[in-house]
Amino acid sequence: MRDTIGNNNSDLTEMNRSAVVKILQQREVCSRADIAKQMGLTQASITKIVAALMEMGIVSEVGIMKGNGNRRSIGLKLNTDMHQIIGVKFARHMFGVGVFDISGKIYTQTETEYSIDEDHQSVIAAMKKQIYDMLDQYKNVVAIGLAVPGPYLKDDGHIAVITQMPAWHDINFIEEFKDEFNKPLYIVHDANAGALAEWWFGDHERPIHTLAYFLVGEGVGSGIIENGNLLLGVQGAASEIGHISIDFQGLRCECGNYGCLELYCSAQAMLKKARQHVPECLSESYPKSIEACNVVFEAARGGNQKALEIVKEVAEYIGYGCVTLINAYNPDIIVIGDSVSQGGDLLLPTIMEVVKQRTIPELCDRVQIKISSLKVDPTLYGAAAIATDKVVRMPSAFLAVEK
Ligand SMILES: [Zn+2]
Repeated sequence: MRDTIGNNNSDLTEMNRSAVVKILQQREVCSRADIAKQMGLTQASITKIVAALMEMGIVSEVGIMKGNGNRRSIGLKLNTDMHQIIGVKFARHMFGVGVFDISGKIYTQTETEYSIDEDHQSVIAAMKKQIYDMLDQYKNVVAIGLAVPGPYLKDDGHIAVITQMPAWHDINFIEEFKDEFNKPLYIVHDANAGALAEWWFGDHERPIHTLAYFLVGEGVGSGIIENGNLLLGVQGAASEIGHISIDFQGLRCECGNYGCLELYCSAQAMLKKARQHVPECLSESYPKSIEACNVVFEAARGGNQKALEIVKEVAEYIGYGCVTLINAYNPDIIVIGDSVSQGGDLLLPTIMEVVKQRTIPELCDRVQIKISSLKVDPTLYGAAAIATDKVVRMPSAFLAVEK
């Protein structure tokens, strides 16, 4: 992100090139006239920008398109298969690595589980090995994005609090990863990654002004995007909704606060409730909270009354989180994702009921609340999206093909 407020002519040229790339990224095939209309520039300006992008090998022409009133025009498309982006998701219990193209198409992905008691240096070494293996296989990787649980302090490189895994607090992700691969690498908080994935690749009605991604998984967090830009806060820890107190006399959280939302609706919270109320559904071989969520949802779908009560309670807490998101950020859309959102249809009616009861009607009427429908894990997708976002902001620097 640029920190200066002025624009040189070269910056403006690059911004316009970037805008064209972004349009083609979202619409696949588009005519010069369509792009001119969407950007509010003259056709002559667009012709010049497109010529430069074609010269760099970033854009090419693809036959004739039918336009309005039977007018024919030449279609343009992004050469998406020429560059790849690696996305990496680091989470409690697992890490994932995926290779994508700049339009978000996934080529391959791997998931590796680890025990939270495992020595962190060996987990980091395993992550690096996976990334090196992908770099060996895919020779045109232009950038890497890494998503980590929050609150992640973007300039310090540390996760300020990582519940269940306090030893990881001392890991400096910037020092560990930044210069390791000889590729630009961007690190982002997982909820922000999910927000970017939904912004770029989610199947939503557009245009969207403000999107809130509500991550409800092992941890609870949110990522907010307004007009394409992430809301980060001075240290990168903005919108940490998981640590907003919903009961000031509630349970003590590892962050220091009491009654944090994360303690009531995370996958870990569901595991605790399941152990208490439906232990018969859990076998000893279900030590992990993600599996516990699925077991509870399955039991609830099968009509198990106690499981249904757990699901209802969790949905109510997610609803309180949505109310806070609406009051704090006034979004057009809230997308709920990660492991607890797998209960989608079981959760939504209660979430909607809570939101209706507790939100100012004028705000409530405008917001759409839905469960993520992305086929790829939004955090992994978002890790790639953060790198893609940086790449398409400077297409000449990242995407030009040497001839
Ligand atoms: Zn907390």
